Amino acid sequence: MIEQQLAQALQERQQAGLMRQRRQLETAQGASISVDGETLLGFASNDYLGLANHSSVVAAFTQAAKHYGVGSGASHLVNGHSREHHLLEEEIAAFTGRDRALLFSTGYMANFGTIMALLGQGDLVVEDKLNHASLLDGGLACGAKFRRYLHNDVASLEKTLALPGQRKLVVTDGVFSMDGDIAPLKEVVQSCRKNNAWLMVDDAHGIGVLGATGAGSLQYFGLSQQDVPILMGTLGKAAGGFGAFIAGSDVLIETLTQFARPYIYTTATPPAVAAANRAALEIIQHDSTRREHLAQLIAMFRAGAASLGVQLMDSFTAIQPVLLGSAQRTLSVAGTLQKQGILVGAIRPPTVPNGSARLRITLTANHSAEHIEQLLVALDFALKLHPATDLDNQGTA
Ligand SMILES: *Cc1c(COP(=O)(O)O)cnc(C)c1O
Repeated sequence: MIEQQLAQALQERQQAGLMRQRRQLETAQGASISVDGETLLGFASNDYLGLANHSSVVAAFTQAAKHYGVGSGASHLVNGHSREHHLLEEEIAAFTGRDRALLFSTGYMANFGTIMALLGQGDLVVEDKLNHASLLDGGLACGAKFRRYLHNDVASLEKTLALPGQRKLVVTDGVFSMDGDIAPLKEVVQSCRKNNAWLMVDDAHGIGVLGATGAGSLQYFGLSQQDVPILMGTLGKAAGGFGAFIAGSDVLIETLTQFARPYIYTTATPPAVAAANRAALEIIQHDSTRREHLAQLIAMFRAGAASLGVQLMDSFTAIQPVLLGSAQRTLSVAGTLQKQGILVGAIRPPTVPNGSARLRITLTANHSAEHIEQLLVALDFALKLHPATDLDNQGTA
């Protein structure tokens, strides 16, 4: 009975063009990758600075694995908190300009665990509609009143914040993962001040990429720990490693250490991963050439798309989506791109709202100007081969 219901739900997903498939990657992250036996130019990675396969990051990992072995052996509070983890936390705190930082095994756990630890019944959590799933899940699960405001709309935020609540927490992505645009953080900070609310920013896609030394959206806007008391960042994207952190005041970090269950009840990441993250952090802070190269590629891609009449979204980050509407058209365009040797993300509901399926193109410092040219030519061809239908324009499917 249950098995039959599950099979039916899968069939419905298949018929709606929403079935997801995994590809097998046979090479390291890079511009040119081998996927299911095919060599493709990849524009679907979050390795924005090209650090996942950087020689000094790999060397740090290898060296630490020789010293520490592979497994961390236990959770942080029991016996798994290595010196590499500890140094990484101190370096992240200095890098982000916060009192302290706490490592989590994944960004999902950092977001979920932090909201769960800080809020409960009688409280109010207010989130941007397009926030990452882990933030929404934490908000829904924590027991507080959960409300979403219109994307990047401060008036809508203010209205929602007027609702009663003992503790009030506003949560937003810094850079939105599927749109690439940036939250109006200065205005959001003002709104939180006025309403006596705490602010949490998930900067998974800003860390490493934005700001003079890559410290992310908050550095870009010049916002301090007083402005944004809870900063979350990930180490699996621009840092090219794995894991995540929360940075903030001593009291916040001690609270999470004692009360955040996804922190307490899980095995620490391998110490070698922390060592690799440290090496990446060093490059992010002291070598701006990768960020500059990436910025040039982004400008070049946007100018090229404009001259071809390809409509892009309002983003100046490494995430450059092409909004197509229906899941079917998105799959068709992505399929044609793959035939031309180009891999992009085909993002469909429920990851994005109904009717807003899109290509998620990501640029990285591994790409060259020639790669961007190739992408633009292929994109122009694929979009013309699969023109928009009424279905796309109605925003259905
Ligand atoms: C990827 C991502 C996460 C989750 O981070 P993981 O370390 O991959 O679990 C959280 N928030 C945003 C905005 C993300 O893009």
